[in-house]
Amino acid sequence: MQPSTGRDWSFGEWVCNHHGMPVGEPEVLRVGGVSVADAVAATGTPAYVYALDDVEAAYRRVAAAFAPMGAEVLYAVKANGNLAVLRRLAAAGCGFTVVSGGELTRVLAAGPTTGTVVLAGRGTSAEEHALAVRHGAVVHVQSADELAALGRVAAELGRPARVAIRLNPDVEAASPEALRTGHGDAAFGMPPEVAVDALGRMAAGAHPGLVPVGVHVHVGSQIRDPSGVASAVKVALDVIRAGRDAGLDLDWLDAGGGFPVDESGADVPEPEDFAALLAPLVEGTGVRLAVEPGRRLVASAGMLVTSVRHRLDRSHGRTVVVDAGMHHLLRPALYGATHRVVAVGGGSEDVAPTTVVGPCCEPGDVLARAAPLPALAPGDLVAVLDAGAYGMVMASNYNGHPRPAEVVVAGGEATVARRRETWDDLLAWET
Ligand SMILES: *Cc1c(COP(=O)(O)O)cnc(C)c1O
Repeated sequence: MQPSTGRDWSFGEWVCNHHGMPVGEPEVLRVGGVSVADAVAATGTPAYVYALDDVEAAYRRVAAAFAPMGAEVLYAVKANGNLAVLRRLAAAGCGFTVVSGGELTRVLAAGPTTGTVVLAGRGTSAEEHALAVRHGAVVHVQSADELAALGRVAAELGRPARVAIRLNPDVEAASPEALRTGHGDAAFGMPPEVAVDALGRMAAGAHPGLVPVGVHVHVGSQIRDPSGVASAVKVALDVIRAGRDAGLDLDWLDAGGGFPVDESGADVPEPEDFAALLAPLVEGTGVRLAVEPGRRLVASAGMLVTSVRHRLDRSHGRTVVVDAGMHHLLRPALYGATHRVVAVGGGSEDVAPTTVVGPCCEPGDVLARAAPLPALAPGDLVAVLDAGAYGMVMASNYNGHPRPAEVVVAGGEATVARRRETWDDLLAWET
């Protein structure tokens, strides 16, 4: 496994080790070369802060790993849809995978991209299909019903629609239970025989408005063993061969995302490990490979910065209430994810296991248990690390709290990318 180099959290000159504790004497936490306290000075907390240089570096690393295969990198927008993040990736040449019309609207708003754009939703509506077809996105369909629905949209618009089939390859990915999408019982995609049948019908002239280009597999997220992806790609290649035998000109094989990031700092397989397994499979097949990393491009480039509101008085142990919670970063409550939490101001004295809870009236609103933190006081800043993926996109207004601001740091400068919501915003949708 390659050492992980994507992390940029540092206390002054002191880079964190794998356990998130600073090596040497801690100073102040920095992000993208800016002190975290400065980064959130304009917005206050809670605020997500993303280091755009790190996002681009992560993209370039994945692109370089797959470049020898001529593969294209499509960023999975659902991990983090902030427009500044999308713009930076588009400018670097990255393509995009979206799962809804709303995400496609974000990609369109971010400006032109030279990369491929894929719509790979489940239960995609006619409006969403139409938006994708009008903008030349490739639509990945998950069922025969969806194929027929897309065919009707293409016919109505009088525009050819490029389509790929999302396969259910029936493989078990070494990914957490809640994040597995490629086993036979997962409600994603078509079984191979159904896909071959659909391709055969298109070859025979069904759905004349559709231009079949290939197949798509995405077997899960946080995949700890790349061999699951390799197994899925083998199934996909079989289906492509069957489609070619039926007379179709198929060359698109989207191998999905799932490249892992361990928020607790443990080693995981890197993009190069996935590329090494896939390269021999696709060599000489004439397929254009695509990969769809979401988390791997943004998780470690982002943090959630929050302030201590109060110390809770407990009979034992140390507990602080902060102004961010499960409604801003759902991963600990939803998946039991363990994010490292550090004091922005450093401080190595009186470090003790600390429970960090959010402001929601929910016993599950716990951001961290037994985080090694110095003694904290109201107003102190705390950062939840590796929070750039599946953070803000899952945030809600539960308990009537406005969602956090988003700040981006680039070239040593922090910019407010999305203002904090207000109480008035919370009322804006109701008549
Ligand atoms: C969610 C998703 C991804 C990205 O998954 P990560 O684990 O964030 O890399 C890629 N492709 C599809 C189709 C997805 O739904």
